[in-house]
Parts: sequence; structure tokens; C-alpha cells
Amino acid sequence: MKEKSWVGILFSYTKGSKIKLSLSILLAIISVFGGLLPYLGVYHIIIMFFAGTQTGSKILYWAGICLGGYLIKILFYGFSTVLSHRSAYKILENIRLAIADKLMKVPLGTVLNESIGKMKNVIVDRVETIELPLAHLIPEGLSSLLLAVSVLVYLIVVDWRMAIAGIISIPLAAIPYGIVMRTYNKKYDDYMKASNYVNGVIVEYIEGIEVIKAFNHASISYEKFQKAINDFKDYTLDWFQSTWKLMNLGSAILPSTLLGTLPLGMYLYINGLLTPADLTISIILSLGIVETLTKFTVFVNDLKSIEYALRDADQFLNLKELPSVRQQVKLKNYNIKLENVSFSYLQDENNKENVLTNIDLEIPEGSFTALVGPSGGGKSTIARLMARFWDVGKGAIKIGDTDIRDIPLTQLTDTVSFVTQDNFLFNSSLLENIRLGNSKASDEEVKEAAKAACCHEFIEELDGGYNTLAGEAGNKLSGGEKQRIAIARAILKNAPIVMLDEATAFTDPENEDKIQKSIAALTKGKTLLVIAHRLSTIRNADNIVVLNNGRIEDTGSHEKLLKDCKLYRDMWQAHIGSKAWAANSDQNIEGEVVSNV
Ligand code: ADP
Repeated sequence: MKEKSWVGILFSYTKGSKIKLSLSILLAIISVFGGLLPYLGVYHIIIMFFAGTQTGSKILYWAGICLGGYLIKILFYGFSTVLSHRSAYKILENIRLAIADKLMKVPLGTVLNESIGKMKNVIVDRVETIELPLAHLIPEGLSSLLLAVSVLVYLIVVDWRMAIAGIISIPLAAIPYGIVMRTYNKKYDDYMKASNYVNGVIVEYIEGIEVIKAFNHASISYEKFQKAINDFKDYTLDWFQSTWKLMNLGSAILPSTLLGTLPLGMYLYINGLLTPADLTISIILSLGIVETLTKFTVFVNDLKSIEYALRDADQFLNLKELPSVRQQVKLKNYNIKLENVSFSYLQDENNKENVLTNIDLEIPEGSFTALVGPSGGGKSTIARLMARFWDVGKGAIKIGDTDIRDIPLTQLTDTVSFVTQDNFLFNSSLLENIRLGNSKASDEEVKEAAKAACCHEFIEELDGGYNTLAGEAGNKLSGGEKQRIAIARAILKNAPIVMLDEATAFTDPENEDKIQKSIAALTKGKTLLVIAHRLSTIRNADNIVVLNNGRIEDTGSHEKLLKDCKLYRDMWQAHIGSKAWAANSDQNIEGEVVSNV
């Protein structure tokens, strides 16, 4: 497929700003023509003096034209810039919203596999770099170019020979500039790669600072950080050093327009081929052309930075979306069926390693099913596929006999609650964090859910109660408390299917009891799938599925599996062993007997 040009990408995001953008361009053009009036005024005043026809009122008249033109130039340029900034920010908004919208529509895996640092860098920083150049490029760039061309036309009208002399410095300056530009694209590309690398290292350093400190890796990580920054500095300086002589030569030649106009003008004047008035105005005009063109050279870099930022943004904007239907479907029931499901995280056809292979599984409505098995066996993957974070590679997952790919994503999300161990809290009030489960819930309903999830007490004890910001409360909340808030959110959502990635990380005996209570409230009467890490909590499941290496090793009740499945028996023994060990250590510490399993 042909790559879209960056100008095309840019213009596809001008929705809502096209009128402002066009108006900004129009005002810039008016400003340019205002800028020409002083030249006209000066020309006439010079002519008057040479002809000896000057009078006070005539001079005042043309001086007024000059001043009026100058005011038009300044004022309209100002209006144009205001509009161009507004348009540029609107374009930025459109691009950022489009990326955010895209991230919602692509498979979750695609988002999770991107580094947060890179995404933040593109969505916030790189997109921001478009604003200033874009806002200035429109009025300034356009008016610089237009002014240069208009002044040149004016100069041609005055005297075409002087016009040529006035722009002779341009081809001369083009030689050193041209030499620099030959490697510019490649150099800019390398510069951006180096800049992205530094960005990545900085983000990694900050994100990983806890691990770096905990494992005393400060010096090694700092060296990597320092090296990246030094390399970037060296690269930038090298590039600067390799070009500054030629760039300065170009900048010195470009405005030296008098080198052409003065000797030629004098020659023409002495030989009676140019009037003194035309000589003077030609010299003034030629200075006008070059001043504006010099401004324009600055925009070469700006254009490049817009191009790169847009290309980075476009990478996200072009991500493949998860296909979704719009039409709501009526689900017959909430039976879940996995039919011959295979899945690989790798999309590359030649390099596919199945994480799940030929999984057949039925989870009847209202039943309690547990997934158990060694770590990496594919338990979480099954749950994620059911929530359609990814699509299955082969086979199908059905709810009430409807393939989940034929259920609109919003309906599927309403049907399935997935409580994971990653209990993310947004930095809004705890009330709003729970209300995420159901945006229409009243404060009372939110509090009822919080009570059912054993959150009410500890929330009430916080200084701000339910209005405490999660960010502020975050440091004070234990892992278990955060988890219960996530469960309250799911209780409020009240979806008919609940999937639970049972957490082990934050369990202490008191919390364990509360979590079990809150889970009981969440799962009452629901089709329940639990990814189990502690087998004692799922002993009563209707069906336990033992997953090993992406395949179902066995299924059945706890008693049946203890009898028939060696892997399950071993896991159970290990679990009892660890419980006994935990009990003994409790006994040693507290001097009381803790009952076994
Ligand atoms: P479990 O929940 O049983 O511990 P998972 O379903 O998390 O197992 O993982 C199954 C396999 O899939 C593992 O080998 C794991 O490395 C791999 N895996 C999990 N998530 C991803 C991912 N986002 N990208 C690539 N591979 C993954």
C-alpha cells in the first residue's frame, strides 16, 4: 500500500477547523498586501522628491498609506495567528482523540504490548511538537513566501534587470544549503531515532526506579541513562559541527542582495538607464525579498518535525481494529462454550507458537468453574479471550450459542465482568471509581455495592470519605482494599458472567475473609469462572479444569480430580504443604494453633 503523505494525514484531521484555517490563510494574505503598502508609499515619496513635486500634504498622505499598510500587516497577522493557533490546537485535539479512540478499538493485546513510555511520548509530546510550527507555518510561512513573490513581481514592474540582480544571491546561497540538504533527511531520521531512544531510556529509568533501588542497580542503570544522553548530545553536536559552516555561509550569502543591486543599479543609473527613484526603490525592494526568504529557511526544520510527529501518530492511527458488529443481539442464555479454540499471541504466520491448543469447554449458566494449572499454562489467556481482549486464532467462543465476535463489543463488556489482579484506580474520588461499574448508579447504590464488597468501613474512615481522591488515598490503601474497591465496581456492574483472576498477592487472614465475602456477593447467581491460584478456595467448584501447556489435562470435581489427575493431586499436595507451613509459622509467631486447610 502506498504510504500516505504527511500533508494528507494532517488534512484528514482538520475537521472542525477548516473554516478557521481558511480564514487564517485569508487574513495572512491581507496582512501580506498590507505589508506591501509601505513600499508603495516610500516609492511615491522618493519619486516626489526627485521630481521636486513634494508638498506637506502629499507627503503626509503617502506616509499615512505607509502607516495604514503597516497597521494592516500587524493587525491581520495577529488575527491570523490567533486563528491558526486555534486551528492547530483543534488538529492536535482531533489527532489525540483519534488515537485514544483507536486504542479502545484495537485488541487489548496490541495496546498492552506497546510501551507506556512510547505511547505517552507520541500522544502527548510528539503530537504537541506539531502545534507551534503548524500555527506559525500557516500565517508566517505563507506570508513570507507570498510577500517575497509579490515584492519580486513589484520589482519586475519597476525594473526587470534590477529584479534579477535582487535575487542573484538566492542561487548562490542554494549551493551551500543544497550540500547540507543532501544528507538532511538521513540525518534527521537518525536524530529522531536517537531522540526516541533517549526518551525510552529516561522512561525506563523512572518507571523502574523502585527495582533499580531495591536491587542496588543504581550505578549500572545510571550509566545506561548517562550514556544515552551523552550519545544523543554527541550526535547532535556532530551534526551541528558538520553543517554549521555551510549553513552560515548560506545565511551570509542569502541576504547579500546589495552585491547584485548596487553595482548594477549604479551602472544603469550612470548610463541613464535607471531613474534615481527607481534605483532607490529597487534597492529597498530587493532587501524586502531576502528578509522574507531568510525567515522561510527556518520552516524547513519545522516542516520536518511536523512530518515526523505525524508519522509517529499515524503508526497508532493505522493499528488494525478488532472487527465489531453494531447490532445488539438477544442472547438465549449465559452458557459459555469454547469450541476447539487455539490461540497464539504471535501474529506472524511463520512463527506461531500456540498458547492454547484445541480447547473444548462448556460453562453452563449459573455454574462455578475454576481454571487451575501450572503458571504459564494459559489460564489468564482463556479469560482474556472470553472478554475478547484478543480474538481466537482458531475455533470459536460462544455465549448463549452466539459467537462473541457477533456480539457488539459494548454488549459483550456489559455481559462480562472481569476482575483481574491489576486493580487500577483512576485519580478521581473513590465514589466515582466504584461508579465506573455503572455510570447511572446513584450515590446510594454505589455505597450499597461498597458495603457488599466490605469497603464501606475503611472508606468512611478516610478524611474525605467517599470523596477522597484515589490518588491521595492510594498510598494509604492496602492492596486488599484496592482489590475490594475493584470488586465493588464489578458488583455495581452486575454482569451475568463474572470472571475472576483470584489474587494471592494481597492476602492476609483478615483481608482474605473480607475478600471472600465480597466475592460471594459479586458472584451470587452468576456464571462464574475463577482463575484459581489457591486450590482451597475452589474446592467446591462445580467443575475444575486443569490446564497444562495450553491443553486441558482433565476436568471434574475436586474429589474426582484428586482420584484421577496426577497433576491436580500434586498441586493439591503442594498447596496443603504450603498451608501447613504457613500455619506452623503462624503458630510459632503467635503461639496458637491454626487449623489446617
Ligand atoms: P497463566 O495464566 O496460566 O499463568 P497465561 O495465560 O498468562 O498463563 O500465559 C500463557 C502463555 O502465554 C505464557 O507462556 C505467557 O508467556 C504467554 N503470554 C501471556 N501474555 C502474553 C502476551 N501479552 N504476549 C505474548 N505472550 C504472552
